[in-house]
Amino acid sequence: MGFASEKRELVRLVARYVAGLSIDRRFVEENTPPGAEGAITNILEDVKSQVLEIKQGLMICRLCGEGPFTRTGLYLHLLRRHGNELVHLVMERVDERIRAARKIGRLVAE
Ligand SMILES: [Zn+2]
Repeated sequence: MGFASEKRELVRLVARYVAGLSIDRRFVEENTPPGAEGAITNILEDVKSQVLEIKQGLMICRLCGEGPFTRTGLYLHLLRRHGNELVHLVMERVDERIRAARKIGRLVAE
């Protein structure tokens, strides 16, 4: 699997999660280091709260204010309009966690 197709898979996964559609657990398991499942779920939840706004029970895109969407409509909207933003948001969360882990590592080593 090349980088571009992995990125596409990641965008699809995050978009489905945000829209509340079922996600491919197998893809998550294959790409998750042992013990990191909780961290992955936290990252997905963080990104969801940044992307999804529920207004009077309707799904609105926080990134551009468009909506309301059905689950499938939001999923397609995120794929078409916000793919790179989704990757960026995930990478930000991952970087934060790596920095936090390094900090703990330094504290333990001192
Ligand atoms: Zn949008």
